[in-house]
Amino acid sequence: MAEDAVAAVQALARRADRVCVLSGAGMSAESGIPTFRDAMSGLWSRFDPAQLASEEGFRANPARVWAWYAERKQAVRAAQPNAGHVALADYGRRRSGVLTIVTQNVDDLHQRAGWPQTIRLHGDILADRWLQPCPSGRACAVAQALPGEPPRCADCGNLLRPAVVWFGEMLPEDAMASAEQAARACELMLVVGTSGAVWPAAGLAAVARRAGAKVAILNPDASEIDDQAHWVLRGTAAVLLPRLLDVG
Ligand code: NAD
Repeated sequence: MAEDAVAAVQALARRADRVCVLSGAGMSAESGIPTFRDAMSGLWSRFDPAQLASEEGFRANPARVWAWYAERKQAVRAAQPNAGHVALADYGRRRSGVLTIVTQNVDDLHQRAGWPQTIRLHGDILADRWLQPCPSGRACAVAQALPGEPPRCADCGNLLRPAVVWFGEMLPEDAMASAEQAARACELMLVVGTSGAVWPAAGLAAVARRAGAKVAILNPDASEIDDQAHWVLRGTAAVLLPRLLDVG
């Protein structure tokens, strides 16, 4: 570990008026929630992510997609925030008005660690929504679901789907606008546990850098946006964040 990089991030975390964190699946890995790559292993390795995380894939096989999400929901419910989530929320409370957390994660671990105002770019895996507006113009009502199948509307057959952003879908506009604003305003951006492969979230590091922020990447492995970083810290979220943020 480059000790001078650790010291530089600590010093900036202590004095910056605005700090923005962009977190990805690696943030929750030490809580036992698989990253996207890990979630595609085992039983699911023969599927293309687009078959499991797209509207097209859901329409082609709702039961399969529902089952994959059921497994992931269970992992999220069973998980607890790790030392990284806790260090961030503690830092945010200590330095009031300084921290914005923007997450690509669909779990609720930043929130449960004590940061309910976390900006979610990719939705909430523990919530569901209707696949399409009810064609009758009335509100859909859940019918009894067959085991292993997503629930349907009793009237029109509309399906419930997880309230996450799938491949090819737009990000929630308000969340993305708030995230861009935080990226432009911050003096320090910490990019934690993201491969940098999913856009437009990955572009927030470049937005911050262009606006004059220092960017630190925290990841045990190389990411696709390492070239945006002033400091690349090779380590895990639960080890590095307490070290970097247990400051003033
Ligand atoms: P990703 O799965 O593409 O990449 C995970 C990154 O985390 C990798 O770069 C990996 O090296 C790093 N990593 C692994 N363990 C780590 C640790 N302990 N500490 C720090 N970093 C670690 O994840 P992504 O970039 O977030 O993009 C995948 C998409 O999948 C996102 O859109 C996200 O919504 C979704 N996803 C979310 C969750 C979740 O909510 N927990 C889990 C899986 C996937």
